[in-house]
Amino acid sequence: MEVKYFDIHAHLNFKDFDADREEVIARCREEGVLVNNVGTDLVTSREVVELADAHEHLYATVGAHPTDWKKGFDEKEFHTLAANSKVIAIGECGLDYYRIKDESEKAEQKKLFVQHIALACSVGKPVMLHIRDSASKPGLAYADVFEILTREPGVRAHAHFFAGSWDIAERYLARGITLSFTGVITFARGYDEVIRKTPQNMLLTETDAPFVAPEPYRGKRSEPCYVREVLATLAELREEDPEELAAALLHNALRVLALPAGKFAIDK
Ligand SMILES: [Zn+2]
Repeated sequence: MEVKYFDIHAHLNFKDFDADREEVIARCREEGVLVNNVGTDLVTSREVVELADAHEHLYATVGAHPTDWKKGFDEKEFHTLAANSKVIAIGECGLDYYRIKDESEKAEQKKLFVQHIALACSVGKPVMLHIRDSASKPGLAYADVFEILTREPGVRAHAHFFAGSWDIAERYLARGITLSFTGVITFARGYDEVIRKTPQNMLLTETDAPFVAPEPYRGKRSEPCYVREVLATLAELREEDPEELAAALLHNALRVLALPAGKFAIDK
């Protein structure tokens, strides 16, 4: 397999892929796309580890989504999953204030996030951040995540589906937090400034499949191969050569996720 891209955030375990999962996975292999599937609770975390164990080009991230805090966090079970060699990150974890009904939920989400950081530290793997602001207080969830991470300088972190302002991005980047953007960047212009200003070595690629398919697939189910379209938009906005950018961002992913660069047929 000649590896060209790393979709560092997808959910191929979701029911959206039940009818043709193996075909989608085969297409990733043909197109040279490594995929990190991300769990959102204990059940889905087990699913992504099973997929990663069965396919060389698939990896897994285990954890509980911030909005799933009510399910609790089974430290022992998550630790067992996190120790698997195909598990490359812990999450998706962080803070999601978008649909919060009661302020007390914030404390519950923060507690769950801190538990993920502790697990990430104990297995020496980065955290995969999910951060979403409420419409009324833009920037607050990002600030709260940053404050919690400041207390844990040893933990590496990646912010998936980054939607913060450049001010926030600058603070995150200075902390060593890498950023990725989904297919939404092919049709929404609110991400352009951050995409242009982020140093190349701090960018990763993702699809968040089955969600937010890029143009020309907008509105349909997304799949990891569409990371091509995300990358084409990144290259266009940054006025960089798409192939060179693809190679650079693949190497960023291998570096951030601490994977050996020589494991697959990667030329540079
Ligand atoms: Zn996700």
